[in-house]
Amino acid sequence: MLEINEIFGPTIQGEGKLIGTPSIFIRVGKCNMRCVGFNVEYETPSGIKKCSCDSYYAVDVAFKDQWHTMSSNDIIKKVEELKPNYNLDIVITGGEPLLYWQNNEFQSLLKYYVENNYKVTIETNASLNINLNEEYQKKILFSMSVKLSNSLEPLKKRVNINTLTQILNHTQDSYLKFVIDKEFKEKAQEEIYAIIKQIPKAEVYLMPMGDTAKEINENSETVIDMAIENGFKYCDRLHIRVWDNKRGV
Ligand code: SF4
Repeated sequence: MLEINEIFGPTIQGEGKLIGTPSIFIRVGKCNMRCVGFNVEYETPSGIKKCSCDSYYAVDVAFKDQWHTMSSNDIIKKVEELKPNYNLDIVITGGEPLLYWQNNEFQSLLKYYVENNYKVTIETNASLNINLNEEYQKKILFSMSVKLSNSLEPLKKRVNINTLTQILNHTQDSYLKFVIDKEFKEKAQEEIYAIIKQIPKAEVYLMPMGDTAKEINENSETVIDMAIENGFKYCDRLHIRVWDNKRGV
């Protein structure tokens, strides 16, 4: 069984290579990191104040009572209820989806969607060890949001060169994306080069840090400049521009 935080859509993919594409999102619960450096303050259901990323409700098991334990069939059924009369993309996000990679229900879900001609994206921090042995696994698009030191997670935990290499070698369009803010630009550049020199050639997308349209605006020009200076790609975060950090859209 899988811990599912929420299933929502149809909406558009708000960031990354497939930005603007109609999609349904399946958000798993649990993450192997906390990323307190992203500085989003929240309160747990029992009233404890903490700090993490903007997906804290899918990261922190303190919110487990709001998650649903579902089989792959339950998820497929729920997606069918939401789906319009065309096959839109399936985005599996989190939390950290690769925590479930060894889970048969998770693999059944991936296999079902790939074999039924859906484009499947897994949004991942790409820090966990996985193997890609099956053909359907090689058709998945991995959107790898590798964490830099501003997450305040240790290097050994956040950068897994073997997994990045394995994914880039076995899949077609998978890419790296990094969230950057003005103050972190120089250090980020250094850290990104330290990662990409160790892995096969990969497309790199840079996105502006921010939890609101205002913060995105404040960072976007710096991030665009950085993309142009380095031959990386800029990617906006449409969902935040339009809806700030509202859930379920
Ligand atoms: S890895 Fe991603 S989901 Fe997990 S805590 Fe960090 S930013 Fe949040």
